[in-house]
Amino acid sequence: MKRFAAALSVLSLATLALAQTTFLTIGTGGVTGVYYPVGGATARIVNEAGVGLRLTVESTAGSVFNISAIRDNQLDLAMAQSDVVYQAYNGQAAFEGNPFEGVRPLIGLHAEPMHLVCLANAGVNEFADIAGKRVSLGAPGSGVLFTVQAMLAAKGMSEADVSAEYLRPAEAPDFLRDGRIDCFFYTVGIGGAAIRDIMATSDAVLVPLADPEFAALIEEFPYYAFATVPAATYGARQPDDVTLFGVKALFVGSTALTEEQAYLIVKAVLDNLEAFRAIHPALATLTAEDFLTGLGAPLHPGAERAYREAGLLN
Ligand code: GLU
Repeated sequence: MKRFAAALSVLSLATLALAQTTFLTIGTGGVTGVYYPVGGATARIVNEAGVGLRLTVESTAGSVFNISAIRDNQLDLAMAQSDVVYQAYNGQAAFEGNPFEGVRPLIGLHAEPMHLVCLANAGVNEFADIAGKRVSLGAPGSGVLFTVQAMLAAKGMSEADVSAEYLRPAEAPDFLRDGRIDCFFYTVGIGGAAIRDIMATSDAVLVPLADPEFAALIEEFPYYAFATVPAATYGARQPDDVTLFGVKALFVGSTALTEEQAYLIVKAVLDNLEAFRAIHPALATLTAEDFLTGLGAPLHPGAERAYREAGLLN
């Protein structure tokens, strides 16, 4: 009887623990990108903190899909580009007339430079040279396509100036390797697997993106920045530092996330900063101060509490 009672209480404790667990889904990107491993490792850190949250990741089309899915309550959390978050919050570009005022960043993450990778024999030495070439501009729903559209507009060009393809990040490198396209774009953290692989296995080049028109975009919009890819990051085919134009990755939620949930997530990451930085080379140089820059929309109040407690905010 005593054993039965003990077994019963263990069972009811387990049931209670489960009942008190909140399950949250994080939208990421393609499996060959940086969002997916970073989202997965963030989930692990939060889950291991044992604070009643159970985070899982989903591979998705990327930023624009993620932000729309948070708005539709299909996702609770996501990785997303700072330009997409800013324009969603302010109802601009793809979000024109349809602002998402409830989007709330939790953590500012790594730099996401736009990578323009071309076959060496395509003769593309700068952005404008893509005119007339077969170029993958990014898949629908990706942040890649979103940022490429802004860059094309800044250069006075449009999608019609290229023979456009809209490939997923897992497909584009294979198309390039097979000579079915000349170039592809990918906004991704420095050292992303997809870029490393293609640069190692085909005669490809990483095209510098330091045009004055991009400098003007950075002047106008705080969520853009230049980033330098250190020489040889992508092996022998990238012998020199390359300056790229790009954005920043953010970990976002919305006002649907409670103050406590957002607080617990950010606190778990802050408490495990070393482990977090070790997840991916793109995060290696990140500081806690970087968590608070380039957010594109107001910080979630729960995140604010965690940063204040850590002495990072007044
Ligand atoms: N920035 C890309 C996008 O929003 C995804 C990059 C990644 O998966 O690391 O489409």
